[in-house]
Amino acid sequence: MINSSLSNSFIYHMSMYLLPKTTTDKLDKQRRTFFWQGGSQKKKYHLIRWNIINKSKKHGGLGIKDIQSMNTRLLCKWWWKLETGTGLWQSIVKKKYLQDHTIGSVKHRIDDSPVWCDLLKFKHIYLKGREMLVRNGRKTSFWTDKWLKDKSLCNVAPILFELCCDKSISVHKFLVQQGQLQFKRWLTPLLFDQWMGLINDIYSHTFENSEDTPLWRWNKNNLFSTKSVYDFLTKENSSNRFKSVWKAKIPYKKKIFLWQVENNAILTKDNLIKRNWVGSPTCHFCLENETIDHLFFACPVARITWGIIGTCLGTNTIPKNLTQYHSWITQLLPEGKGVHICGCVAVCWAIWKCRNKACFDKKTIKNPLEIIIHVCSFLTYWASLYNSETQGKILEGVQALLVCASRLMTSHPSTTTTARLPPPSSDVVPEDEESD
Ligand SMILES: [Zn+2]
Repeated sequence: MINSSLSNSFIYHMSMYLLPKTTTDKLDKQRRTFFWQGGSQKKKYHLIRWNIINKSKKHGGLGIKDIQSMNTRLLCKWWWKLETGTGLWQSIVKKKYLQDHTIGSVKHRIDDSPVWCDLLKFKHIYLKGREMLVRNGRKTSFWTDKWLKDKSLCNVAPILFELCCDKSISVHKFLVQQGQLQFKRWLTPLLFDQWMGLINDIYSHTFENSEDTPLWRWNKNNLFSTKSVYDFLTKENSSNRFKSVWKAKIPYKKKIFLWQVENNAILTKDNLIKRNWVGSPTCHFCLENETIDHLFFACPVARITWGIIGTCLGTNTIPKNLTQYHSWITQLLPEGKGVHICGCVAVCWAIWKCRNKACFDKKTIKNPLEIIIHVCSFLTYWASLYNSETQGKILEGVQALLVCASRLMTSHPSTTTTARLPPPSSDVVPEDEESD
């Protein structure tokens, strides 16, 4: 919804002009507030950095667009259109601004139009994603375009580039001059060898009498897409770990929940305290401090739950955090990749629901089986989202888990959680989670 709130006319403006930073900041502020608060006036915690939310789901975000990056990717498209399209616009721009320059070598001039100036500001981003398939070399910049190696020659041989007098020469011109480039001074033997090596590599390339073609490196099909530019601009420090969350067959809200757990962004008490909440940091089920790893893995309530699931799967080990969960479950259920996330969300969500009941309704857990029963009912409900074969397997697993849990409980009737009395009323946390 936040993405679709950008109207067509606004997107049209973004694809034509570079928006001032003050405008994009103001718009992003409004969208950020809407993301965390909805239509409500009540101020709510912003739990995850906006630049993480802006990343695509593939790169660990939620895919909510960052306006500045969107503006950049839409403007980059013009460079691709200029290089690959034909039409009146291309003819005018080539005649007026490119003349005999390649895109790699064209520079800003005092009489440039504002639109052309804006495009030049993003040329370096465009050139990062584009490489040239050189045939006659006319459209390819010898030093600054990527064409011969996986880096441009100015990066392969930076000193030679620095010393060269003709930095903006095209590959075609290099061939016409038969490689006779001028350098500011005599080359040392080492640099001369490097230059000779480069010339050898260049003449091993097959040149043809047809036009050079740009290829887009950030897309498998070598064709430009604005999405690939956006991913490049927002992918810094991305984690691919939770790519499978978005593919999992569970309700969308539960995906968001797991994504928040992964990003340490649910309102456990440690997170509330970081945001100046005043209250006891203690867990609702034991005497330790409440953190995400504690609540979902280290707390006695969680340990008993994971212990029962482990026993059912034939192990006496339990995971200590989400990262361990992934290797733990992969080892135990290598065939069941499609349901790993589903199982994890079912356990975490069941614990979270029980924790909230203890917190807000003062209902403590009397028997650890309560959480297992919740887990089983979530799994049974979500099983209908899978195909009939997987559905059958999930339901079989649920039955086995229930049998195993009740057997364990009857053989160890003294096993109880260390459930405490509910916290005093001042300890109540502001409600932010939706209830099911
Ligand atoms: Zn605890």
